[in-house]
Parts: sequence; structure tokens; C-alpha cells
Amino acid sequence: MASEDQPFIIFGAPDIHEEEIDEVVATLRSGWIGTGPRVAQFEQEFAAAASVAPDRVAAVNSCTAALHVSMIAAELEPGDEVLTTAMTFCASANAIIHSGATPVLCDIDPATLNMDVTQLEQRITSRTRAILPVHFAGRPCDMDAIMTVAERHDLVVIEDCAHAIETRWRGQPAGTFGDFGCFSFYVTKNVVTGEGGMVLARSPAMIDRIKILALHGMSKDAWRRFGDDGYKHYEVVETGFKYNMMDLQAALGIHQLRRVERNWGRRKEIWSAYQEAFANMAVGRPPEPEAHTRHAYHLYTLTIDTDECGVARDQFIERMSAAGIGVGVHYRSLAQQPHYQREFGWRPDDYPFSTAYGNATVSLPLGPQLEDAHVTRIVEAVTTSIKP
Ligand SMILES: *Cc1c(COP(=O)(O)O)cnc(C)c1O
Repeated sequence: MASEDQPFIIFGAPDIHEEEIDEVVATLRSGWIGTGPRVAQFEQEFAAAASVAPDRVAAVNSCTAALHVSMIAAELEPGDEVLTTAMTFCASANAIIHSGATPVLCDIDPATLNMDVTQLEQRITSRTRAILPVHFAGRPCDMDAIMTVAERHDLVVIEDCAHAIETRWRGQPAGTFGDFGCFSFYVTKNVVTGEGGMVLARSPAMIDRIKILALHGMSKDAWRRFGDDGYKHYEVVETGFKYNMMDLQAALGIHQLRRVERNWGRRKEIWSAYQEAFANMAVGRPPEPEAHTRHAYHLYTLTIDTDECGVARDQFIERMSAAGIGVGVHYRSLAQQPHYQREFGWRPDDYPFSTAYGNATVSLPLGPQLEDAHVTRIVEAVTTSIKP
């Protein structure tokens, strides 16, 4: 039970420090709160962290926007098909649909929870144009296999890196394998700007196009028109969107990003503490990271098998909430959502591993602000919640 000395542990609460607060206040006082110098700085520091040149990134106002403009820049057309995983957030599919293309699902490999790469080629048709892998929970997809298929069939690759800022595959950062990598700075993610996202592209020319698309379709660097070197006319060069990031958001991101590696160490510690604590319990644990990879430890996901645990997943969630612990569900599979079932005829039984996982999964709080005492409380709550 949550109480005064044991307050409710909010799932995915952001870890905001004084330096972010000071930077936001300084931004407010600067008179420039929209897209400006702090966004440019955040882009530069993000590019440096991913070891790419600064002209290969563009900050936007969400990962959903990042995915959408990437697909527009890749010139997907109505009727084109994009292969993705059934185990992802609805935004991955919605971005595909808004670009005019059609999502085609692969089931997950239960050993990794990522898209089963052996299904990719089975699902390729004459209309397949792209692959949208999702590095689920921060664990990298098999980028060797995905890039091999992409090259063989001349497919665009758009990596959904919403969970994967710190993720590496054979030492290389997630988001730098495909044509585009799309990152999220939503409140629950490992770097937070409130709302926010980033596109990392292989080609600087794509980033130029994306910056135009993300700001109404106005010609390059239109945000500078109100700067101190005098007003300049812009030209509308295509039908764009309103996807630009604000300096107010970047003010948070600059400091969040500087702490991301330190936070990653704490995330790993907590993730490992959970793995150890639940080793001999009836709950299912997430797969251990592979040796040649780096896991971002974005989510710690248990599975609750009703028979083994003596409690159904949803009842387990109620017990955790009653014990003062906020939890999440990542995710019920896309094929379980009614809109997509109506629109695309998807059936849960066609994606059996995603469906089984979607019915059993629950995510525990995981973040740098959790103290050892919090972790102990969470482990105790899990232990008592699965007792009959
Ligand atoms: C959070 C998330 C998104 C969307 O990110 P936003 O920044 O909220 O638009 C997309 N894909 C996955 C896998 C996510 O977890």
C-alpha cells in the first residue's frame, strides 16, 4: 500500500534535475523559446553521442513525427508495403499508414522479443518497399540479418529507436544501420524533452529535406528569418508538416543527454537486480542481452502466466497498483487492436508469439531515480502479488 513514507512509485516518471530547470528558465528569459539555438545545440550533441556528423540529424517534436517524415522523405507511396513487428506501440503502424503505405506484420521471436527476421522474406511482395524494425525494450534487432534482406531486395530501412538511445549492435549505435533512425524523447523514455524526437539519416540530403518537411515545407533554415541578421524571405517548396522541436524542449534534452550514460549504468544495475530477484519465481523474465550487443535497458518486462503464477496478468497489475507500484503494458500486440483488425484483417492467432506475450506482459518501473529501497519494495510487491 502506498503511504506517506512509501509514496506511489509512478511508472516511467521523468528524472528532472536543477540543471534542466535552470536551462528552461534561461530559455524563457532569452526571448527565444521556439526552434532556435538550443535545438541546434541539442542536435549537435546528439549527433556526437551517436558518432555521426551533425548534418545527419534533425530534431522534431516526436518519434511519431520522425517516423512519418522519414517515410515521406523515402517517398513511400499508396499501395507500398512496410514490414514491421506486431509487438510495438501503435505509433509505428500509424506513421506507416499516414505516409500512405500499408503495414505488414512479422511475429516476434520469443527468444528476443524483436521481429522474427526469418519471416521477413516470407512476407516480401512486389509492393514491399521498406522494413521498420523496432529495438524492443532497448535490445537491438539482428541488424546483420535485416540489412542483408534489405540490400537483397532493395528496401529502405527505418529503425524505430524509441527504446534504443544507448543501444549498440556489434558496437555500432542503433539508428545508424538503416536509412533512417527515429528516436523518442517522450516523458517515459531514457532521454526526456516532454515531447520530442530525432531523425538520424544516412544521407545529409535527406536531413535537409526532413528539416523542410518538418517546418511547413518552408525553404532551408526558415526559423532563422527572425534572427539578428535581418529578416529573410522563405519559399514554400513543398507541402510540409508542423513537426519542429522548440528550444524549450531542447533545453531539457541537452542536460538529459549529458546524463544518459550515467543513467544507463543505474538502469543496468536495477535490471540485473530484478533478473536476480525473480530467478526462482514463477514469473517469466526478459531475455538476457546478447554478448556482442548493448541493451538500453529501457523496459524491464515480466510475463505472468496465469497457471504458473496463480494470478492473471490484469489482476497482477491491480495488486501491484494496490501495493503502490505503477506498472505498464508494452504492449498488447498490434493484431489485438480493433481498428487494425477492421482495416487490415489482422488476427491475433496469425501472430501467436506476439499475442501470447501481449496477454502476459507487464513492465516494472526502471529508471535512474529509483533507489535501492524502491527496488526492494517493487520486488516484494511482485513476490506477494503472485502468491495465491
Ligand atoms: C514511444 C514510442 C513511439 C512514439 O514516440 P513519440 O515520441 O511519443 O511519438 C514509437 N515507437 C515506439 C516503439 C515507442 O515506444
